[in-house]
Amino acid sequence: MKRRTFLSTSVLAAAPPADAAPAAKPALVTRIRRLNLRHTWTTVMSSSQYRDTFFVEYSRDGITGIGEGAPIIRYQESAETNRRAIESIRAWLLEQRPEAFVPLMNQVFRRIEGQFAAKAALDIALLDWNAQKLGVPLWRMFGLDPAAAPLTTFSIGIDKAGVIRQKVREAEEFPVLKIKVGLDNDEEVIAAVRSVTKKPLRVDANEGFRTKEEAVAKINWLEKQGVEFIEQPLPAANLEDMNWIRKRVHIPVIADEACLHPQDIPRLAPYFDGVNVKVDKCGGLLEAKRMIEIARSLGLKVMLGCMVSSSVAITAAAHLSPLVDYADLDGNLLIANDPYEGVRVDRGRLILPDRPGLGLRPRPA
Ligand code: MG
Repeated sequence: MKRRTFLSTSVLAAAPPADAAPAAKPALVTRIRRLNLRHTWTTVMSSSQYRDTFFVEYSRDGITGIGEGAPIIRYQESAETNRRAIESIRAWLLEQRPEAFVPLMNQVFRRIEGQFAAKAALDIALLDWNAQKLGVPLWRMFGLDPAAAPLTTFSIGIDKAGVIRQKVREAEEFPVLKIKVGLDNDEEVIAAVRSVTKKPLRVDANEGFRTKEEAVAKINWLEKQGVEFIEQPLPAANLEDMNWIRKRVHIPVIADEACLHPQDIPRLAPYFDGVNVKVDKCGGLLEAKRMIEIARSLGLKVMLGCMVSSSVAITAAAHLSPLVDYADLDGNLLIANDPYEGVRVDRGRLILPDRPGLGLRPRPA
């Protein structure tokens, strides 16, 4: 066969049948949604009635993957800066092969500085797209056992005693509660909780204790109140006081604000019993999985936490939850206008969807 004849024949052979639909062009939609909180949410850091989170919808071959990230103000992120970050790489992104999501996300990390909630939204959308394309739930793509998903805590924000009692009653189906402490009214808050329930508690000080002596006194008092572990008693930068504290308390101390990215964990390992991994802090499920593996290799406990967000981000994190000791994935339960449903909770146990991808469905009106 002459070369010219061969080329033209092979092109003909490769051409799609005349009745096949033309390959759909990939599409990318970025959007910001305002999520309304059921209760005003107060921690040491802030008080608010709504949160704006950032969404990415990636479509190709008739499949749409959805992702969400909750921007953290402390790290100079907003839903708008998240959106600008993804829009800045739009043209490049639409030329990439989504199937190779690992090198693709590595490139995204090189192209975008900071803006980890934006990266998380994109990473989740790409993983949702890929798992749907393969026709498997995301936990299956990670090789995990959904039956190993842990209990999740339900968080009770700082509030007046009467409201706290009401929130604890509303959380009746959750066997373990997470309580925010670190303000001047910790005794009042815990007393209000204990007046209505004997459940085990986990507490988060959000860097709220002012001295190592206060931290030790509070932690030992909290242990007597049935608290299983405490998150971030001191400011993130204060590591030198952590060993002094840990020699004087018995419950595990978990790093949250001190632990943002995989490279933080080896430095923190001598000072904490565990780390709180959050998809929005680190920039997606691939980074979160890397953090879980590094923490495990250093003998640390792993908690999977979340920000206030819709079922998109919470379901995404839940797909990794069979890898961790403790889950705190209730951010979607705190909002009144969740646009989706995905992971469910049954008496505190996370129930992962068995539909392809994240397994999201629009929430019926
Ligand atoms: Mg925390």
